[in-house]
Amino acid sequence: MIDSARLQLPEFAAGSVWLVGAGPGDPGLLSALALHALDRADSVVYDALVDPRILALARPGAVLDYAGKRGGRPSPRQPDISARLVALAREGRRVLRLKGGDPCVFGRGGEEALALAAAQVPFRIVPGVTAGIGGPAYAGIPVTHRDIASAVTFVTGHDRDGTVPETVDWTAIARGSPVIVLYMAMSHLGRIAGRLIAAGRKADEPVAIISRATTPQQRVLVASLADAAAVAAAARLEAPTIVVVGEVVRLRARLDWLGKGPDSAA
Ligand code: SAH
Repeated sequence: MIDSARLQLPEFAAGSVWLVGAGPGDPGLLSALALHALDRADSVVYDALVDPRILALARPGAVLDYAGKRGGRPSPRQPDISARLVALAREGRRVLRLKGGDPCVFGRGGEEALALAAAQVPFRIVPGVTAGIGGPAYAGIPVTHRDIASAVTFVTGHDRDGTVPETVDWTAIARGSPVIVLYMAMSHLGRIAGRLIAAGRKADEPVAIISRATTPQQRVLVASLADAAAVAAAARLEAPTIVVVGEVVRLRARLDWLGKGPDSAA
């Protein structure tokens, strides 16, 4: 599929696990290492967020093993997934652990890598384009921009128990980070916006909500921080969605290279 010798790609050794980021959706955002791994894997253990067009690139004969939520049932426990990776590797398979976006950005790649290290299973981490970078790029929003945005924070809007994360210092982020990219934030967007405004962010600061980023179904809404939650709810955006807070959102008016129209409430 790809010229792995010319690209000097490493061998995918039998009995090893590659933790690979599949990017946010568009198969064109896969890395050469990710394509190489899809080409060679014996087992592909994948999550719900991996685009079906990417799974279709797996070597014919590779065993596809789903490790996400299905039909409302809870997802397999993390220790079970890690144990499965170890067991498959010990059977001498080339195990591709494929995750949406980047494996180590809110993807539990670190936890799985720790389990592999503890079990002395050789592994490699292949970064992917995270939704918080790929999504804004496909919406025409640079996540940093000289003079107006010299820092960006990636933050989860969802705690382990489903509440607004208390471990996140929202006041510090509001004051210190001109651009805030929120993952898993839709259910608490109103409360998060309230905390950011209470900490000094302007109620009319622009927010972009990007649904199914980089796929043909991508939709982008632009609203103010104060209105974002209501606008998103009214639009019935499909999951997954990534939220960008910051003045950089205004650049979309000139940089929407995908040109799917404004779809904007601002
Ligand atoms: N490891 C992933 C993130 C997993 S957490 C990454 O690096 O992108 C899941 C959250 O990621 C979702 O709730 C959503 O906020 C975001 N996300 C992942 N894929 C997305 C997509 N195609 N469009 C919009 N948001 C996405």
